[in-house]
Amino acid sequence: MCGIVGYMGCQQAYPILIKGLHRLEYRGYDSAGIALIDSNNELNIYKAKGKVANLEHFADSKNISGTIGIAHTRWATHGEPNDTNAHPHVSQTGSLALIHNGIIENYAVLKKYLQDRGVVFRSETDTEVLVQLIGYLQQTNNCDLCTAVQQALREVVGAYAIAVIEKGNPDQIIAARKSSPLVIGIGEGEFFIASDATPIVEHTQQVIYPNDEEIVVIRRGEPLKIVNFENIEHPHQIKHIDMDISQLEKGGYPHFMLKEIYEQPQTLIDCIRGRINPEGTDVILSGVMDNKERFLNARRIIIAACGTSWHAALIGEHLIEELCRIPVEVEYASEFRYRNPVIYPDDVVIAISQSGETADTLAAVEIAKKQGAFIYGICNVIGSSIPRATDSGSYIHVGPEIGVASTKAFTGQVTVLSMLALTIAKLKNSIDPQLYRKLLGELRSIPQRMEETLKLDAPIRELSKIFTYARNFIYLGRGYNYPVALEGALKLKEISYIHAEGYPAAEMKHGPIALIDEEMPVVAIATTDSIYEKTISNIQEIKARKGRIIALVTRGNHEVARFADSVIELPETDERLAPLIAAIPLQLLAYYIAVNKGRDVDQPRNLAKSVTVE
Ligand code: GLU
Repeated sequence: MCGIVGYMGCQQAYPILIKGLHRLEYRGYDSAGIALIDSNNELNIYKAKGKVANLEHFADSKNISGTIGIAHTRWATHGEPNDTNAHPHVSQTGSLALIHNGIIENYAVLKKYLQDRGVVFRSETDTEVLVQLIGYLQQTNNCDLCTAVQQALREVVGAYAIAVIEKGNPDQIIAARKSSPLVIGIGEGEFFIASDATPIVEHTQQVIYPNDEEIVVIRRGEPLKIVNFENIEHPHQIKHIDMDISQLEKGGYPHFMLKEIYEQPQTLIDCIRGRINPEGTDVILSGVMDNKERFLNARRIIIAACGTSWHAALIGEHLIEELCRIPVEVEYASEFRYRNPVIYPDDVVIAISQSGETADTLAAVEIAKKQGAFIYGICNVIGSSIPRATDSGSYIHVGPEIGVASTKAFTGQVTVLSMLALTIAKLKNSIDPQLYRKLLGELRSIPQRMEETLKLDAPIRELSKIFTYARNFIYLGRGYNYPVALEGALKLKEISYIHAEGYPAAEMKHGPIALIDEEMPVVAIATTDSIYEKTISNIQEIKARKGRIIALVTRGNHEVARFADSVIELPETDERLAPLIAAIPLQLLAYYIAVNKGRDVDQPRNLAKSVTVE
C-alpha cells in the first residue's frame, strides 16, 4: 500500500526515482509525487493525481535535475486523491519536503496545536501535519533536521515510514519508520530508500531493514547512521538480498496476474523444495521441528489473517483439525486485535500474510505475543515485518507477487499449511502412516496437475465471454472447497468489480437461495470427495430454481454435465489438496472476465497490494 522511494548519490535521481515508483505500482495507489534538490540547492516538487505516467508527463518538461530526491505513490487515507493531497508535502516555509506511508492517528490534535501557532495548512492529509510539525520544531528550537524529526516523532501516534529532505542541503536524507515498511539500499557512494526491496535490487543487493522507532541518517560521503529518538546510535546489520530482476518483469504475459497464475506449478515446486525429502517419504518443516514441544503441547491453534490469506487459513484449519486433532480457530486479524481475545501461553498463533507487512496481522501478532503465545509466521516477503516479529515460521517461497489480486501466494500458503499439518500430525502420531505417505505423494504431484489444469485456459476464456456482463455471481463449495468458493468470489470482486458471494453449498437453503433465478451464474465446486453426493444435491436445488451452473468436477465425471450449463473437468487429487487445483480455474475465470471488461487487472481500483494501514 503506497510506495516510497528515495535516492542520494552521484547519478541523476529523477530516472531512478521514477523507475522505483513504477516498480512499486503493484502496491496500489491513487496519486504520485516527487521532490528533488538541484545543483542550486533549490527544492523542486511535482505531483499528479493518477498514475506515475501522469507524473512523468507533468514533470518531464520541468527542472528534474539533482542527485538527491524522494518520491511517493499515495494510497489516500485522509483527504481525497488529488494533486494537493499527493505527497511530498512541504513545511510552512517551503524548506522541507516529506513523503509518508501510514497514518498519523493524532493528526487532529497536532494540527490544532500548529494552527493555534499560526501554521497554515494546504492539504487535507494527516501527513502534512507531520512535516509542518518538524518544520515548526526546527524553527522554534533552532535545531537541525534530524533533531527536529526526533522531537516530532515523539509526539506522533500512528504508523509511518517517512523520508525528509531539506532545501539548501543536498547532502542529507532523514528517514524513519514505525509499523510501516522501510528498506535502505547501500550502494557505492549512493543510498536508496524504498518501501520494499523491488526498486532497490537492480542497484544494490546490500540492504538494511530499520526497526520501529529508528531514524536513519543518510549523509553524503558518510557511513549511514541509525539513531533512536534520544539520538543514541543503534547498531545495524547489512543483509544481502537475493532477488532476480527478471522475477519482477512480466515475462511476455500481458499482466502480472496471468504470469503469476502460470507460475504456480513452479512456485509450488519452490515451496516444497528441501522440505519433502527426495524419496517423498517425509516432510520436514524446520520452523515446526525446531519448536516441536510448542506444537505438541498446543492447547489450540489460532490463525490470524486477512483477505486471501484468511481463506488459506480456513483450509489450514480443516487440515490441522483433521490430521492433527488440535482445535483451530481462524480469525480476521482486524477483528481479533480489538476484541481483547482470550489467548493462553500454550496457544500457537499462526499469522499469514503475503507481504509480511499487513498492519492488522502484525498487530494481532503483537497482541498474542504479549499474552505469551508462541507465534508462527507464514509469509512470502523475506525479511518483512511479520517474520521479524514472530518466534518462528515458514516462508512460502513463491517469489515476488506483483498482481494485486493474490494467486500464487494463495496456493503457496495452502501448500505450507498442508506441510505444517503433515509435520505436526507425524510428530503427534495422529495420522495413519499410509495416509501420510499418500498425501506426500499427492503434494509432490500437484505441480504436474496444475500444469494440466492450466491447459483449461482456452475453454475458460471462452466461458468468460458468456458471463462478462453478469451483475452478480455465487460461488459454492463444501468441506475443503468451501474456502475455495470464497476465494473464487473474492478474485472476481477484486479485479472485475462484479458483485460475488461465496457460500458453503448447503447454506444456500437457509437464505441465499432466494437470490437464484435464470440471471444468476453459480460456480459450483463439485469435485469428487467425501461429500460429493451432498454437494450434488445442493447444486440440484440451484438448478431447480433455474440458476446458471458452471461446475468444476473431477475429470471423467459425466453426472454433473446433465444439469450444469458448463462443466470444467479438473485432474483428480486427494480432497485435502483439491483447493490447490480448484483455485486455478477460478483465478483464470476472474482474470478473463476482468480483461473482457477492460479492467486494470494488476492494479484494480481502491486496492493496495500490501495493506500497511489498518
Ligand atoms: N495517510 C497519508 C495520506 O493519506 C499517507 C497514505 C499512504 O500511505 O499513501 O496522505
